[in-house]
Amino acid sequence: MDFFECYLKAGKIASEQREKTRRKDHVGRTLLEICESIESEIKEKGAMPAFPVNVSLNDVAAHYTAEPGDETTVKENDILKIDIGVQVEGYIADTAVTVSSDPQMETLIRSAESALGEAVRIARANMKASEIGRHIEDVISRTGFKPIQNLSGHSLAQYTIHAGKSIPNIRTIGTSFVLTSGHAYAIEPFVTTKDGHGVVYEGSIRNIFAIISRKPTKIQDVDNFLTYLWNKFRTLPFALRWLLHDLEEAEARRLLGVLTKKRNVHSYPILIEGKNRLVAQAEHTILPLNSSTHILTI
Ligand code: MN
Ligand code: MN
Repeated sequence: MDFFECYLKAGKIASEQREKTRRKDHVGRTLLEICESIESEIKEKGAMPAFPVNVSLNDVAAHYTAEPGDETTVKENDILKIDIGVQVEGYIADTAVTVSSDPQMETLIRSAESALGEAVRIARANMKASEIGRHIEDVISRTGFKPIQNLSGHSLAQYTIHAGKSIPNIRTIGTSFVLTSGHAYAIEPFVTTKDGHGVVYEGSIRNIFAIISRKPTKIQDVDNFLTYLWNKFRTLPFALRWLLHDLEEAEARRLLGVLTKKRNVHSYPILIEGKNRLVAQAEHTILPLNSSTHILTI
């Protein structure tokens, strides 16, 4: 398959999983069950998760995934961001949906969806990313909410989730990069309430990991583990629970601890709204070409 076919396949599977997730009633389900069912269905469809499914509740905006044996259960008035990544030969489709059984959450969720809808409608090759940020902020403000200013969309590359360019969710000043034809981008507005801080901070939980350096530690079992991780995930994020087919949990935690300390592996902290207000998110991956823009996860 060429890169375009890989992107189309990844996008189609990610979108199917997102829509299935949107329609489901999650109340009473555990976060573990939600993550594992989505991840296993991605594999059944002949692709791989590009990162552990993120299941971020309420004031947690992003980067929480289920722990092994995680018994956290979705409750009636929770608002849950479910962020799904699918990769085919390393080409990634990244998409997210916010769900809640509480009708009071509808306007917040719709604000994120509307901002995303407007952004993907206007996005095209040779457009400044700042232009997209301006539109996103305008829609969110108009609907009575506040964008999270330190979370943004991003360029994607093969086996790389954050490929260096950011697509802001707010009006920005100064120079801005221009979307390039043939490159994929994730656009992902995060929205909080007007009394929120509009900024996220790092929480103490870190349960998503990725290799950042393959420099040997000169500790035999740690280096073997690093090679094992590289063969399985390359530079893509992974979760502890993904390692437990091959390793005891305590051993996996110990080895990850060493690699994190030696800066071979990065651990992502969960990101929490600054005033602990509720957060909604919506996300699509787009592929602008000179002729037209493909919304890969539509
Ligand atoms: Mn995402
Ligand atoms: Mn993303």
